[in-house]
Amino acid sequence: MKKIALLGATGSIGEQTLDVMRQHTEEFSLFALAFGSNTEKAIPMIREFEPAVVVTGNEKSREEVRKATNHSNILIGEEGLKAASTASEVDVLVNAVMGSVGLPATLEAIKARKRIAIANKETLVTAGHIVMAEAEKYNTPLIPVDSEHSAIFQALNGERMEDVRRLIITASGGSFRDKTREQLQGVKVKDALNHPNWSMGAKITIDSASMMNKGLEVIEAHWLFNMPYEKIHVLLHRESVIHSLVEFKDRSVMAQLGSPDMKVPIQYALTYPDRMDLSNTDSLELEEFSQLNFSKMDLDRFRCLKLAFDAGKAGGSMPTVLNAANEQAVAMFLEEKISFLEIESLVEKSLTEHNSISEPSLSDIIEIDKETRKRVERYVK
Ligand code: NDP
Ligand code: MG
Repeated sequence: MKKIALLGATGSIGEQTLDVMRQHTEEFSLFALAFGSNTEKAIPMIREFEPAVVVTGNEKSREEVRKATNHSNILIGEEGLKAASTASEVDVLVNAVMGSVGLPATLEAIKARKRIAIANKETLVTAGHIVMAEAEKYNTPLIPVDSEHSAIFQALNGERMEDVRRLIITASGGSFRDKTREQLQGVKVKDALNHPNWSMGAKITIDSASMMNKGLEVIEAHWLFNMPYEKIHVLLHRESVIHSLVEFKDRSVMAQLGSPDMKVPIQYALTYPDRMDLSNTDSLELEEFSQLNFSKMDLDRFRCLKLAFDAGKAGGSMPTVLNAANEQAVAMFLEEKISFLEIESLVEKSLTEHNSISEPSLSDIIEIDKETRKRVERYVK
């Protein structure tokens, strides 16, 4: 029986992780459940899974959970996330919180040598050099949950990294893939939230529409697979059937295919190197597709992807600024305080005006993250 600490249980990945666990009650149990403030979702989960530890984002949610469940071990905030992730009982940490708030818990779990199923890509974008150095130092496995990275991880099974010629990350194109830049001027929040292939949390759905999600994924791939940016390519593939590919030096290409269902990569991150049945997920029936489409990514049309490549290549504290500015801008777009295209211009302005430092420490990153969010707010005012 593997004991799981699940951070971000009330989110899209969190709920799907619990779905996977429901199918394998002999294999997995929930040791810790962490969420932010959605007690309406969290309370039934706590009743169903009876985790030994609960972590909430604030005092109000703690009180609501305590009243509803009588739970006696409810922790709060960052210290709570760290404690839940590193408890001696935990075998696997599933980090599925949204945003760089997930970083400290990941770092502590690495030190505690827990297997980490990492969905929280912002952690790798904002502090990839620290996370990966620590993972190597403590010999802690980071198993990707993001579907593209899980695809690459699976394609690399049994291969030597020096034989890899390039990674090819596929992109569905998000909600606005068929719109011109002019048509993007007046788009609304509800249009951006309407993703054609995947059902996900609000922030990542906006990131998919702006293509920043693909940019974050390029940086995530750079760190997870220790791959130079020149060897990471992005390919537009609207059907989301091929989740990503690896080309080897003999020009052989391995692809991973499947229905667009996050339960597949979530479960693989929990069971790797084993596989288990996943019966309520659709099989991929290729005959249902008369064709699969591929096209080159237009970096002028999708400026956020270019900004991410540039920030990744520049390195130092630039990816931290990219991520923090984007998190702040997306939050403001969701609150209808800025327009869709302002997301990219705010990120670009933040990057241009930042004096990058090389090799930022954890405290530098936390400081730059805070400062960048404030700066974006000031730009808007
Ligand atoms: P959601 O917005 O659906 O969920 C985010 C979760 O994080 C919620 O449970 C939320 O709690 C919790 N949370 C937010 N802030 C805090 C905090 N300060 N303390 C504790 N918990 C907090 O996001 P997704 O599930 O869509 O995405 C999660 C991560 O996975 C992101 O990094 C995303 O990029 C990545 N990812 C997601 C995919 C998907 O299909 N959804 C695919 C690939 C990657 P609450 O709501 O209770 O406040
Ligand atoms: Mg993805």
